[in-house]
Amino acid sequence: MYDLKSYAELAARCSRCGSCSTICPVFQVSRQESLLARGKLHLAENVLLGKQNLNAEVEKRLNACLLCAACSKSCPSKAEADKIILAARAAAVKKHGLPFLKNLAFKHVVPMRNRFEWSLKALAVMQKYLPADQYAGSFYRHLPFSILNFSSKVAIPKLVKNSLSAQWQEVKVQRPKARIAFFSGCLTEFIYPEIGLALQSVLTKLGFEVVKPRQNCCSTPVIMSGEIEVAGEMAEENIRHFLNEDFDYIVTACASCGSALKNHYPQLLDDNETAADDFSAYVMDINEFLVKHTKITEYLDSNIRKITYHDPCHLARHQLITGEPRQLIQATGINLVEMEASDRCCGNGGTFSIYYPELSEKILDLKTRSIIATEADYLATACPGCLMQMRRGLAKRKAPQKAIHTIELINQALKL
Ligand code: SF4
Ligand code: SF4
Repeated sequence: MYDLKSYAELAARCSRCGSCSTICPVFQVSRQESLLARGKLHLAENVLLGKQNLNAEVEKRLNACLLCAACSKSCPSKAEADKIILAARAAAVKKHGLPFLKNLAFKHVVPMRNRFEWSLKALAVMQKYLPADQYAGSFYRHLPFSILNFSSKVAIPKLVKNSLSAQWQEVKVQRPKARIAFFSGCLTEFIYPEIGLALQSVLTKLGFEVVKPRQNCCSTPVIMSGEIEVAGEMAEENIRHFLNEDFDYIVTACASCGSALKNHYPQLLDDNETAADDFSAYVMDINEFLVKHTKITEYLDSNIRKITYHDPCHLARHQLITGEPRQLIQATGINLVEMEASDRCCGNGGTFSIYYPELSEKILDLKTRSIIATEADYLATACPGCLMQMRRGLAKRKAPQKAIHTIELINQALKL
């Protein structure tokens, strides 16, 4: 699964040059050496080699990373801190297990689809009675964390009454060009179903048949927590569901899901690596698919004046996709203005924003300021997680920019 010793060797490559201090978003807002890649790698190495006992402080430091990979991509010694820190979390979980709350969520709720869906339905009802976020009125306190008084600062948007699955209707296409299996992901499923419906609309207008096979969470939050055994079981389940379908491509509009499906599944399933490799080879991000396999750029037109684009970490650095979303936006005729550090993390980082709400908030503030400075009318991005985070940041600052997923923008601009 994860060869822990090889990650310890990778950690030993760090020359302590400090280059990562200019790029790490967590360091930029905390100024704490212990939270920088350089400060964490020695600790991670010892955890991986079993020399470091886990205590609350060690766990806290290992979790203080967005896994954004900004340091890894610029490290002169090629010490891939995000991978090493993830492996250290896995080693710690293997030895000591997950803390109570994470254990409950990532072992007993999220992996069991029926249980997860029922929990979200209950949460949707109870959400109405929770105080709204002090800055962004449409966001509600994160119920489980509020109840446990774990972090009263975490807020999520309103969960929808009708999930994407409840709204989904398959559309028959005469002589389809290809059959697309859509991996929706949890945020699209339960918070932003409009993203999934926009994807279906665009692809069917272009002559593709879109099916939505049965699926579980992609396992990103579980992987990030270090519980890789459970993540492996979830990966196996998703692969099984999809291989029951007939398809030419697997497409997703979630950068985090795409990264998990492409990059982590083959690593998680060492017993069945070939099946995972085969599966991953079919996976494409929607922006990538539209540019590589369609002529959509000939049919786009929009009267929006000015837009800026945020690069999700899971798309730009984990999937190396930066040109395609820009190509699509520019084809609409909208003036694309680049913000400062468009690929700097928005501060969401999965559970990072839950465990470090203050740091997450400061990183979000940097991002929000960069967006506002462009004076664009819209902010586009290609990940529902980033969208959720930045909508809250923009609402907090009462910014005029509307945040939108690229596929919703493309759907509005598609003249077919
Ligand atoms: S992680 Fe890389 S960039 Fe950071 S101090 Fe170590 S060698 Fe330098
Ligand atoms: S992965 Fe991102 S948050 Fe983590 S140490 Fe590197 S730059 Fe900092």
